Amino acid sequence: MKNRLLVTLITLLTIQPMTAQALEVFACEPEWAALVNALAGDTAQITVATTAFQDAHRLQARPSLIAKARSAQLLICTGAELEVGWLPLLLRRAGNPAIQPGTDGYFLTAELVRRLEIPTRIDRAEGDVHPQGNPHVHLNPHNITRIAGKLSERLQLLDPANGASYQQRTEQFLDRWNTAIDDWETRAVNLAGLRLVAYHRSFSYLADWLDLQIVATLESKPGIPPSGAHLAKLLEQLSANPPAAIIRAPYDNEKPSAWLEARLNVDGVLLPYTVGSEEQASDLFGLFDVTLDRLESLQP
Ligand SMILES: [Zn+2]
Repeated sequence: MKNRLLVTLITLLTIQPMTAQALEVFACEPEWAALVNALAGDTAQITVATTAFQDAHRLQARPSLIAKARSAQLLICTGAELEVGWLPLLLRRAGNPAIQPGTDGYFLTAELVRRLEIPTRIDRAEGDVHPQGNPHVHLNPHNITRIAGKLSERLQLLDPANGASYQQRTEQFLDRWNTAIDDWETRAVNLAGLRLVAYHRSFSYLADWLDLQIVATLESKPGIPPSGAHLAKLLEQLSANPPAAIIRAPYDNEKPSAWLEARLNVDGVLLPYTVGSEEQASDLFGLFDVTLDRLESLQP
């Protein structure tokens, strides 16, 4: 009886301060919320600005989000101009000095990795060109490894009282993550060279990692919806040597894909792109598991 009381007391003492002082985190995209969750668990209280069904290029800085940003202690976003259309406004409206650019509470993931598709020439007539390169960095799991290490350091800096817990969780996560990467890479050997058409350049890092070939995009220019003329041109270009499939994210318009799939007689494949669009992709491990399952299903 005494022991049970003691256990209850210890439980109360250890749990209460953590819930009372949960680190408030504002994440722009679900993949970064998932990463914070993996490294911080209950120690962080996370708000996510977008869901897996929303295009993070385009978002309204709505009042409920601004309110969340006002009290956040850490903001984690992709950067590389992915959120350029709404994040600066949201930060200004929130007026929270703790998460402004340049502070410890401001953490951009894309800046930590080698970026693909950095344009040699900046011309806005070429569409939503990202001068800092392709921001969709999370679909190479090695980028996640690197970002996890840096994020863990930042969490420990902002919340030293829970430093040991972040450290331990990070080690556990990375152990599991590195094992998973080995498994994925073993599985994906047969996918090398797989020819795909994508809607937007959302999967460039996945392609770079697995040696897939994205031979065309349905958008003629990034951020410009596929036009009939461009689709007709793609049909002509790809007819002689059709891709294995047309891949798209949950928020991409299905119609242009369906049009081209029917005419080329190829599969359309919905990839989860990020965490949360389907039950099996409810965390970062599931995201890659499902993505590989879908791509493997295209193999003869
Ligand atoms: Zn983009």
